[in-house]
Amino acid sequence: SGFPPTLFAGHHYGVAGLGRNGNAAVAALLAMGASVQAWDDRPEARAALAAHPRLKVAPFANMLGLAALVLSPGIPHHLPSPHPLATMARDAGVPILSDAELLFRAVRAAGGRARFAGITGTNGKSTTTVLLAHMLACGGIAVAAGGNLGPAALSLPLLPDDGVYVLEMSSYMLERLEQLHFDAACLLNLTPDHLDRHGDMTGYTRAKMHVFDRQGPGDLAVLGATLPDYASLNRQLAPTRATVACISGADIPQCDFYCTPQALCDRHGVIADLTHVPDLPGTHNRENAAAATAMALHLGLPRAAVEGALRSFSALDHRQKTVGSVGGIRFINDSKATNADATARALACHERMVWIAGGTAKAGGIEPLAPLFGRVALALLVGRDAPALARTLAQHKVPYRIVETLERAVPEALDAARALGVDVVMLSPACASFDQFSGFEARGTRFAALVQALAAGPEGTG
Ligand code: ADP
Repeated sequence: SGFPPTLFAGHHYGVAGLGRNGNAAVAALLAMGASVQAWDDRPEARAALAAHPRLKVAPFANMLGLAALVLSPGIPHHLPSPHPLATMARDAGVPILSDAELLFRAVRAAGGRARFAGITGTNGKSTTTVLLAHMLACGGIAVAAGGNLGPAALSLPLLPDDGVYVLEMSSYMLERLEQLHFDAACLLNLTPDHLDRHGDMTGYTRAKMHVFDRQGPGDLAVLGATLPDYASLNRQLAPTRATVACISGADIPQCDFYCTPQALCDRHGVIADLTHVPDLPGTHNRENAAAATAMALHLGLPRAAVEGALRSFSALDHRQKTVGSVGGIRFINDSKATNADATARALACHERMVWIAGGTAKAGGIEPLAPLFGRVALALLVGRDAPALARTLAQHKVPYRIVETLERAVPEALDAARALGVDVVMLSPACASFDQFSGFEARGTRFAALVQALAAGPEGTG
């Protein structure tokens, strides 16, 4: 990993909750010379830890002597119902820190000067994180990306001084920072989500605004134009004297970075032609592109490199990702779309398509998609709730067939697309996958494999 093996020698850390983040924290802290006490209530999680002379696996009786406690993202430390471990830490004066904070401290303790970019919001975090990392890499800048999704922050390597850590930050991670400040920080958007944890929209917004904490002159703060109460959020940032950039995926020339249907622009004019950017379809992805571009330019990517970087971006798996073409017909995997809201964004990206949907329907079903049904040349329905979806489609006179499985849907979609003269087949289920798959990833992977088999077969030339 490149961190000195004695960096944290003599320091004692607690790690509670041994998921992906907790395990990476244990491994990294041990590798940096610290001693660690780790615990998880699940015996199988404890058993998965490799023995180490500086590792003690034991429940916490108290927190005395701990430099910090790393608490799993799933364990609340807030009022009204902080976990007993959080209370124990507070009573002992032990800070609860996120792994991102420890990464920052480790980099600085090692004498490293790499910069940090932080991305948060309700939707588009992962796409923007991966896109920004891709853009910087295209510009020859050393980059490591991770955080909330992807590799845990503490599994990232020590970067050279001109490198950039790009971190996807959940609100839980943001509330557990003390020193880390982001050279470029972004709050993309906010829609009601996780309100259970934060109480109300005000609490949720406050948690997300922590991404801008400790910023100062020379730093960049990116705010999405759709944020509720944008003007007041913007005012809150004024005292930091960071440069604020307003971004939008829509054509709003008052924004610092915005998108026409053809181009990404800033105050100086066009930055990038978007007509040959296959993997960032839709206004929502243009919002992600505008945010990533604002940050990439701030972090040193030359303006002339933006267009090439956007063009060569390959979408994250299962998010409107093209997984193959057969005879000029594009197959798109949007398996991550497990509700009507997400599928609406995907349907809106194509004039006409063969649509594969179904699985375990969410409350409300696909009725909210009715305004987009005109784009559906044919729907092929799979999974448990296909009959319920079929009823909605029949009411709106949308042609459909119940095909039950993806194995049948994929070849039938190709035949239908040819017969109907459409060039897009899209899996965007608007349903959960658990009736037939272990999760949306397994569903999307199966779809991609079926498409690839079709493309490799006798049909798949041209
Ligand atoms: P997150 O990491 O915040 O969950 P992702 O980048 O993984 O977001 O995207 C998940 C889904 O959210 C996408 O498939 C798309 O449907 C939707 N989405 C992506 N970006 C945005 C955005 N900027 N605004 C609204 N929805 C978005």
